Amino acid sequence: MTAEVAKKLIIAESNQCVSCGLCLPHCPTYRVMKSEADSPRGRIALMDGVARGQIPLNEKFIQHMNLCLTCRACEAVCPNHVSYGELIDQAKVLIVDSDSSRNSEKNSIKRIFLNRLTRLQPVDLECLRPLFRFLQNTGLLRWLLRFDRFKKNNLIKSIAQLPSIKFPYATAIDTNVSSMANHWQEVYPAEGQVRGHVGLFLGCIARIADVATLNSSIFVLNRLGYTVHVPLRQTCCGALYQHRGELRQAATLAQQNKSSFEELEVDWIISTASGCGVQLLESGVGNENCQVIDINQFLVTAKGWEGITIASLPQKILVHDPCSLRNVVAGHAYAYQIISLIPDAQAIPLAGNDQCCGAAGTYFIEHSAVADILRESKISAALNGESSYLVTSNIGCALYIADGLYEKDARIEVLHPVTLLARQMGLQL
Ligand code: SF4
Ligand code: SF4
Repeated sequence: MTAEVAKKLIIAESNQCVSCGLCLPHCPTYRVMKSEADSPRGRIALMDGVARGQIPLNEKFIQHMNLCLTCRACEAVCPNHVSYGELIDQAKVLIVDSDSSRNSEKNSIKRIFLNRLTRLQPVDLECLRPLFRFLQNTGLLRWLLRFDRFKKNNLIKSIAQLPSIKFPYATAIDTNVSSMANHWQEVYPAEGQVRGHVGLFLGCIARIADVATLNSSIFVLNRLGYTVHVPLRQTCCGALYQHRGELRQAATLAQQNKSSFEELEVDWIISTASGCGVQLLESGVGNENCQVIDINQFLVTAKGWEGITIASLPQKILVHDPCSLRNVVAGHAYAYQIISLIPDAQAIPLAGNDQCCGAAGTYFIEHSAVADILRESKISAALNGESSYLVTSNIGCALYIADGLYEKDARIEVLHPVTLLARQMGLQL
C-alpha cells in the first residue's frame, strides 16, 4: 500500500462524513481529552487535510492519530456508515511513510522495544512460556514493581500480573492438569460421535497468557463431538501491524494463516480472542467453505449439548464487552448466552460496556495515562458489581482489567466465558 493510494482512499471515505457529530459522545478519547482533534470527526478532518496536502503531516497530526484507540465505537454509531477503521489504518500508512514518524521513532526506546516485541514469531513466544512461568513463580517481576521506577510501567505490570501460566494439552480430552506439555498437538480428537472438524487459531499473546482459554475451548469442543485441528504453521493475526500502518506485513501474515488453515479439511476457523478474530475476518483468512467464527458464537450454535453435565454456579457474572465484538461484528451477545448455559449463573453487563477499557493492543503501554483513565471506570464498575467473576472474550482486555483489579486488591477473577463454562463441565484448570 503506497502513500498515494492511502491518500486517495482517505479522500474518498472522508467524503462520506457529514460532520454531524453524532459519534462524538461515543468516542473515549474525546470524552477524556475534550478536544475536537481527538474526536472521530476531528481526526477525519485532519486526515482529509493531510491527504489533500492542505495541512502538514507533523508531530501534532501523529499524536492525534496515535491517541485513537481504534475501538471503532464511532463507526458503530455513524448514520452515514463511514468506515472509520479503514480511515485510521490508512492514516497510519501515511504516518509510517513520513519523515516525522521516522524521527520520533528514533527517539523512542519504548517504540523500539515494541517493534521488537511485535516482530517476535509465535514460535519464539512459545519458547518464552517457561521463562514467564519462572518469573511468575519466583515473584521476580512483582519484586521489581516495588521500585518507583517500575511501578508505573504498564508493560512490566502486565507481565508481572499474567494469570497463572498454563501449558497446552498433551493429550486429547483429559481433565488431568498433569498431562500438559510445552507444545500443541496438531489434532485433538472428538469424544464420541464426531459432529465436525474445526481449526483453532492460537494467537500470539493468548498462546502464552491465555492457554487456559485455548485448553478450555479444545475441551468443550471435543466433548461436543468436534475434532480440533491446530495447524502449527499458523502465525500472528497481524492486528498490531495493521493498526500501525504496516499493511504489507499484516497481509503477509494473513496469507500464511490462510494457507495453513486451507491445508486442513475444516469447516470453521475458531478464534478465542475477539481482537484476533476480527483481524482474521477482515484480512480474508477463511472463505465461504471455512469461515472464521468466535468461540462463543460457535458453541452457542453448536449441536451436542444434550447429555452434557454442567455444574451449577449460583453467582452473578459480570460480562465485559470487548470493542472488537461490540463495535465491529456485533457479536457480544454470545458471551451472555455462554454464561446462561451454566445452571443458576446470572450474566450481568458491566456498566459502561459501550466504552473501551483502554487496553487496545499496545495502547495501554504507549499511552498509559489515557488508558489508565479509561480503565478506572471499568474497575469502579466491577467493584460496584458485587460479583466474584468478570468474563471478557479478549485476552488484551482481560489482562489489563485484571491488572487494575489487582492494584485495588479486589477479589474478582477475570476469565474468558468459555473457561468458566469448561470449569463447570469438569475441566481442572
Ligand atoms: S463519522 Fe459519521 S457520525 Fe461522525 S461526524 Fe462523520 S458522519 Fe457524523
Ligand atoms: S476509534 Fe474509538 S477512539 Fe478512535 S475516534 Fe473512533 S471512537 Fe474515538
